[in-house]
Amino acid sequence: MSDATMQRIALVTGSSRGLGRATAIELAQRGHTVAVHYARGEDAANEVVEAITAAGGRAAAFGADVADTAACTTLLEQVTETFGPIDVLVNNAGITRDTLAMRMKDDDWDAVLNTNLSSAFRLARGVLRSMLKARWGRIVNVASVVGLMGNAGQANYVASKAGLIGLTKTLAREVSSRGVTVNAVAPGFIASDMTAGLDDALKERYLAQIPAGRFGEPEDVAKAVAFLASDDASYVTGQTLVIDGGLWMP
Ligand code: NAP
Repeated sequence: MSDATMQRIALVTGSSRGLGRATAIELAQRGHTVAVHYARGEDAANEVVEAITAAGGRAAAFGADVADTAACTTLLEQVTETFGPIDVLVNNAGITRDTLAMRMKDDDWDAVLNTNLSSAFRLARGVLRSMLKARWGRIVNVASVVGLMGNAGQANYVASKAGLIGLTKTLAREVSSRGVTVNAVAPGFIASDMTAGLDDALKERYLAQIPAGRFGEPEDVAKAVAFLASDDASYVTGQTLVIDGGLWMP
């Protein structure tokens, strides 16, 4: 690991559990100082911090509801005050509120769009100035393969993930000439709390369509995010890396 990597500060939203947790740990293993972020899971976030520090890394936990604009601003201020300017932003926090479009309430639409998409825009906007000044930065947005495919029962979630992919491309066009890359990952079916509640018949149907013959693990996504956050990916920008065991092949 280079000295530069050791000094880098990474904020991973929604890293109290699931994909974000694995990403926080992976980035810490690669030498980043990690801001572990949670909404309600303070204890879980503290456990992630303990796991990182026990392994010799540096991390602290920060709470914020990313659906709230002011909370996003405060989160960035707190992380910057604690560790310094953010070099790597991983917009991972996300929720689902699934139902068919004709039954979907405005609240379900707004909550998912605010949490999954608007938060990513606000946090990216908030970190770009210092990244551009440093002439180095990485933003990785955690989208979903359904943002490319569409998925019945997830109009809000799919719109948020497709929006993240468009946001990724646009930000990449705006900032990539100055050492800042912006990419997305599009996970398929990954074992986490988000997918644990799905019924077994649906899981079997998904599994039958996955050439890799298994569901993904959070670490599968974490390693891809860590690559996009690294110097090795300096010429990769505006891309969406699909991590789905071959579920979707355009
Ligand atoms: P998860 O296990 O449900 O974890 C969600 C994380 O987001 C938690 O850390 C949660 O924090 C945080 N979060 C939720 N609402 C928040 C809010 N309003 N403000 C701040 N943080 C909030 O989900 P996951 O499966 O790891 O998914 C992580 C990301 O990957 C999401 O963007 C999801 O859409 C995407 N993804 C997942 C899959 C999959 O198969 N699992 C597939 C494709 C994409 P607290 O627990 O502290 O409340």
